[in-house]
Amino acid sequence: MPAYDPENIFAKILRGEIPATRVYEDDETLAFMDIMPRADGHLLVIPKTPCRNVLDASPEQLAAVMNTVQKLSHAVMKAFGAEGVTIQQFNEAAGGQEVFHMHFHVLPRHEGDRLRPPGQMGDMQEIAAHAEKIRAALA
Ligand code: AMP
Repeated sequence: MPAYDPENIFAKILRGEIPATRVYEDDETLAFMDIMPRADGHLLVIPKTPCRNVLDASPEQLAAVMNTVQKLSHAVMKAFGAEGVTIQQFNEAAGGQEVFHMHFHVLPRHEGDRLRPPGQMGDMQEIAAHAEKIRAALA
């Protein structure tokens, strides 16, 4: 497996070098909105420490990230009146991964809805409004 590349885009977000719409953070993890949302409220949870994905993550990184995934899953259920949550996670290029800092997708779902196709840039104002709903649900 290749080494962790500290120039990946999520590492730059963690260092504050590029902007992100942050919704939650604690000592070990950060949650921010996906800029190509496949559902309203689509967000990402990452560890603050480096690892490429589940294959090289430590038990501590996995535990911290999963705690935050659960917290944010409850928050999006409340914020969007969702009936379910899809959690997605990809490992290495062959597994569908594009950004090589471990991340979990959290997607609020409603009965019968369909995820939008990947790779479509979202409306940043709409994403900001969705982030505000999630922050309010966490408060
Ligand atoms: P994957 O590695 O396949 O899980 O895909 C990376 C995900 O990160 C995609 O859903 C992208 O929309 C998302 N993404 C890429 N760049 C950014 C960014 N600067 N801020 C927020 N989300 C991003």
